[in-house]
Amino acid sequence: MTAKELIDIYISFFEKRGHKRIANSPLVPENDPTTLFTSSGMQPLIQYLLGETHPAGNRLVDVQNSFRAQDIDEVGDNRHTTFFRMLGNWSLGDYFKTEEIPWLFEFLTKEFGLPKEKLFITVFAGNGGVERDNEAFEIWKKIVPEDKIFFAGVDKNWWSRSGVPDNMPIGEPGGPDSEVYFKFDDIEHNKDCKDNPVDCECGKFLEIANAVFMQYIKTNKGFENLPKQNVDFGGGLERLLAAVEEKSDVFATSLFTPIIKTIEKETGKQYRENAKEMQIISDHFAAGVFIISAGVLPANKERGYILRRLIRRAFDNFYRLKGKNIEPVLEKIVEQYSQTDEVLQEKYEEIKLTILEEEAKYKSVRKTAVDFIVKKYPSAGSGQVGDDSAKPVREISADDAFLLYTTHGLSPTQIRSLGYAFNEQDFAKKMEEHQKLSRTASSGMFKGGLADHSELTIMGHTATHLLHQALRDVFGSGLHQTGSNITTERVRFDFNLDRNLTAEELKKVEDIVNQKIEENLPVRFEIMPVQKAKDLGAVGLFDEKYAKDVKVYFIGNYSREFCGGPHVDFTGVLKRFKILKQENIGYGQRRIYAVVNK
Ligand SMILES: [Zn+2]
Ligand SMILES: [Zn+2]
Repeated sequence: MTAKELIDIYISFFEKRGHKRIANSPLVPENDPTTLFTSSGMQPLIQYLLGETHPAGNRLVDVQNSFRAQDIDEVGDNRHTTFFRMLGNWSLGDYFKTEEIPWLFEFLTKEFGLPKEKLFITVFAGNGGVERDNEAFEIWKKIVPEDKIFFAGVDKNWWSRSGVPDNMPIGEPGGPDSEVYFKFDDIEHNKDCKDNPVDCECGKFLEIANAVFMQYIKTNKGFENLPKQNVDFGGGLERLLAAVEEKSDVFATSLFTPIIKTIEKETGKQYRENAKEMQIISDHFAAGVFIISAGVLPANKERGYILRRLIRRAFDNFYRLKGKNIEPVLEKIVEQYSQTDEVLQEKYEEIKLTILEEEAKYKSVRKTAVDFIVKKYPSAGSGQVGDDSAKPVREISADDAFLLYTTHGLSPTQIRSLGYAFNEQDFAKKMEEHQKLSRTASSGMFKGGLADHSELTIMGHTATHLLHQALRDVFGSGLHQTGSNITTERVRFDFNLDRNLTAEELKKVEDIVNQKIEENLPVRFEIMPVQKAKDLGAVGLFDEKYAKDVKVYFIGNYSREFCGGPHVDFTGVLKRFKILKQENIGYGQRRIYAVVNK
């Protein structure tokens, strides 16, 4: 059974029982700046659970894409992921435990085919002024043998927005929940474990389903029944799939196996011996793919910062396994997840470019950091970026480590991964002082918008000059460049235009550039006074406030641009120019992504 089949079976099971399917809410909540990401099926429905009328009625079912940033550091075992899909069904003041519990057991055993003997149940044990959930216990007793039902306390089987009953303010709703665990045969308990789902932390028992019964409201007299009681059911799809396929490792299911295989191929390493790294690579890139498709870009704060952290942590692990090319992994992730989320296929090019661009930035940051250390500590030796596992550790000062953190955003772990050690306590002290001060933005890494000076980026740079002139040919001399960024993977070019280009216009611009490549025009520069350059009609960005003489690059007689270089000698080496896509980046500006020599 595939992930998609599980979803379809689950949805139709509840549709047959009077539920309306509701849409998956956006992963980035709309109009809610206080919440970074949707982290459960319940979250977008909270106002309805608190009493608002839902337009689809009082029986709802869905599958919700969810992301939990707080779980980032948990990833790297057999069951934790930051991104997951959650199957959910809700009763808004309609049915309650008598219906939910048998239904839950029915779809797990009859529809998903899970063997009854492998399922274990937990029920709320009572505490903090709330009684034991005997009602749920009695219902379960009719379905499963009594020795498979376990009682658990407020820390595990109680739900409210403010935690355990004692912490809840007056007027706050809350209630017990009941969970279903799947027991795997192939895992040995840790020595601290007991053989039941409440006292086992090793993963032998995997929580696959959780029904919350919103039963009470806290009053100044204690807990009273809510006039309208709700059911909130959630089941993690990836974990349900693991149970259905009897894989105690979520990453060994049919969803993740093709991704893991691709990582094995790209790194030449085995999953068996490198499970943790490969789990992090798969989960973090999968999460990154979904976050980017929700419109988030890597940045230094909020959602963009979390995305950056995920991607860079995934790259750290990929490089540790000597991985070189991430593209096949991304492609496989999109292939696997687009079975349920088709939009990923449409957005693949954009997703890939965003991740590759972030990789280029990250590599450049790592290289700059190594260059800085080598210059300052000539005996420290240079680490090879992306190949950092075998180097001996060299000592640098905590001040310098901290400088790498503030100027380049490298975390202590990432600095260590480059092969450098430092006094951790001194670093932590500096960090504390720093956090008291306001955050200083770090940018300006890329002089002239170039990530490096490799052959491909030089070609890309010459291509931006041709593109700039071609756009002016089509839209007139009012059009000018507002930014650019070039990596070995692609050219990004921003310019002022208050509408999208039509397909014909894009084609025309592309054709002009290709024509100029075919003409194999010579590229040369001259240094001349500003006024002369202006008289010649040179275009481009330059700081005219202090400039007396400027450098102007000429491409044949076709383009004249203020520029520092470097460039190719003849346009013919670019071979072919292809526009990948355009974007509206706001403020009356458009952005074009293109490639050369491909
Ligand atoms: Zn255990
Ligand atoms: Zn230039």
